[in-house]
Amino acid sequence: MKQKIVIAGAGIGGLCAALSFAQRGFSVQVFEQSSQLGEVGAGLQMSPNAMKVLEALGLSEQVNKVAFVPQNAVLRHYQKGSYFLKAELGKVAEQRYQSPYLHLHRADLHALLLDAATDIGVDIRLNSRLISFTQDDHQVRITLEDGTTDSASLLIGADGIRSNVLAQLQTVDDFNHDVNAPVFTGQVAWRGVVPTDKLPPHLIKPDATVWVGPGRHLVTYYLRGGKLINFVAVEERKEWASESWNTQGDAEHLKRAFSGWHPEVTQLLESVEETFLWGLFGREPLAKWHLKRVVLLGDACHPMLPFMAQGAAMALEDAYVLAKELSSTNMQDQQRVQHALKRYTLVRLPRASKVQAMSRDNADLYHMKGGALGRIRLNMINMASKALPSLVSSKLDPLYGYDVTK
Ligand code: FAD
Repeated sequence: MKQKIVIAGAGIGGLCAALSFAQRGFSVQVFEQSSQLGEVGAGLQMSPNAMKVLEALGLSEQVNKVAFVPQNAVLRHYQKGSYFLKAELGKVAEQRYQSPYLHLHRADLHALLLDAATDIGVDIRLNSRLISFTQDDHQVRITLEDGTTDSASLLIGADGIRSNVLAQLQTVDDFNHDVNAPVFTGQVAWRGVVPTDKLPPHLIKPDATVWVGPGRHLVTYYLRGGKLINFVAVEERKEWASESWNTQGDAEHLKRAFSGWHPEVTQLLESVEETFLWGLFGREPLAKWHLKRVVLLGDACHPMLPFMAQGAAMALEDAYVLAKELSSTNMQDQQRVQHALKRYTLVRLPRASKVQAMSRDNADLYHMKGGALGRIRLNMINMASKALPSLVSSKLDPLYGYDVTK
């Protein structure tokens, strides 16, 4: 008989886990609180380590059809437009890592995962908010908001940064008690897309560009074969009031915040009609990600600032490793399940914690913090990028060259 897995959350991490487990012969049910599935209009950078997972799940052909391949990863001065860093991506990255570096619309990736999961028989329930669970050594019993109950061999909490599954685990003695709710990082991000044909041809370079400025930065890249331009504009703020994940942003405020920047930036922002605003939250790394028959993945256990573009990539890696570790485990055998979950945590927790820290570190770099030392750091990156480009690329090898599917 197929072993049953239930997943809270149909984000990128939850859907990837659903597909990974279903492909390994599990019966999978996903409970999603929203009434509609679909990701907000914005882009995602998919680095080679994330692409390895999508390739192993058989999605590479579909992904390539809707992606954009950037030529370089660049850091540029917010006013002069000069380059602090220019590292080749495109064919060079693909040869180096045996997988491409791509840009994808979130809605496209979400739809690909959803279709593949549905095709293989994953049962996805909308309007289904998980509110509680109880568990013993052999099974977990969940309760949804409408009172429905269900049971399974494993519950995966893929329910994002405000994870209800984590909050409930924390009511149990000794489960990460010292780690509190997510805290506002003092940064907000406007996100959105602009149709490329609204701008002068070739205004925006076909790169993954970070415009670096005092207290702010802006990321731009193409999506959907070049039809859309994605932007993420980050500004430091003292407070964040909204709890919502999808707050409509004020395009005029965005334009004012970046006025006086390089004309490529201001012309792009001039054409923005609609934007959403996110408060960026973080949390200290947890010490534990599982308890008996309940386990966490993605933002539920390691939310991170988007400044390495790795949050979704880490959720994909988690999902794949979790399914791999449990696929050859007898789910009736409590000890073996615990060993598999321990192996999952041992592989994933140090890596995700490191990427969380790298992402935090980039906040200072991108916002020209640290006075003279900050300037020295940017100048050193500039010199190394010109004199020793392979050294700069090799710094990212442990991140991009990592292959969880092996
Ligand atoms: P989520 O996407 O948050 O999904 C959680 C799901 O669970 C949601 O659908 C939610 O409705 C549901 N849910 C919540 N509670 C319940 C419940 N109780 N019951 C049922 N369902 C529930 N990452 C990259 O890899 N590359 C990038 O370029 C990149 N850029 C980013 C730019 C910005 C500005 C931001 C903010 C993030 C970026 N990220 C990027 C990070 C990435 O978006 C997240 O890390 C990733 O989406 C997390 O996926 P997840 O599935 O863990 O959580």
